[in-house]
Amino acid sequence: MAPAVTVTLDVEDLRPSHDLPERVVAMTELVLDMLADAEVRASIYVVGELAERRPGLVRRAAGDGHEIGLHSWAHVPIPTQRPEDFLADIRRGRALLQDLTGQEITGYRAPMMSLVPASAWAVPLIAEAGFTYSSSVLPGPSPLYGWPGLPRQPFRWSGGPIEFPCPMVRLGPIDLPYLGGTYLRLLPAAVRRIGLRRAARNEALWAYCHPWEFDTDEAFHQHDHIGTLASRIAWLGRSRMHRQLVRLLGEPVSPPLAEVAGGLIESELPVLHPNRPPELGPVGRWANGRLRQR
Ligand SMILES: [Zn+2]
Repeated sequence: MAPAVTVTLDVEDLRPSHDLPERVVAMTELVLDMLADAEVRASIYVVGELAERRPGLVRRAAGDGHEIGLHSWAHVPIPTQRPEDFLADIRRGRALLQDLTGQEITGYRAPMMSLVPASAWAVPLIAEAGFTYSSSVLPGPSPLYGWPGLPRQPFRWSGGPIEFPCPMVRLGPIDLPYLGGTYLRLLPAAVRRIGLRRAARNEALWAYCHPWEFDTDEAFHQHDHIGTLASRIAWLGRSRMHRQLVRLLGEPVSPPLAEVAGGLIESELPVLHPNRPPELGPVGRWANGRLRQR
């Protein structure tokens, strides 16, 4: 039997302009309906400023039994922020989500997996703001943000939260975050099966998707913060997303990540110091958001 996977959703409004129609509420409700039909509880990470504008959406997700976590205040990649602004933002977001849901908010997810060596300063701040776990690193090379050399299983940051690295599979020379929305949309289902078959027993598997990935009616938009190619990729294959999530929901599912974190024995987790990361090696050129920051 395939190993169980936690379903996670990053709720963000990526419209390039607020003059365009807002579609995130309808698309999030569509995913919440799918989760309810399948009786699956997920981890749902919400951008703070969207939660402030649409509190009803957060209340509904929490009322459906999902874990609510923070997906930053304004979806700005961590390396582009100053530490004091980052801390203020995630404190504000956590307080808002706690007020809206009555839940203790323990989970933080960085925008675009942007916890990278250049933003290692953020690790102790995530704990300082009250988060006990993070799922914010892509432990491989990436043209956007990645941190090659990090473990694939959950670990604890020294002086920081537990980290759940994004699950990856190696196919030939490349590592792919095979349970991520883009990969679920664009790659054959066989890639997911290979990844799940090869997953180590001590990995915590989680899939992620976004409300906009289900939006087959949205016109193409250029997103300047990710560039033309990534904007195209974000727009492709959306007609497959509904089917892919239905498939995932029909397979063994793990509880929300807060509950997975609660079941870990902390003394058995590897401990990593954020300022002494594993050697990046030649692939490090592709990491750290440098491609985007040039
Ligand atoms: Zn995001």
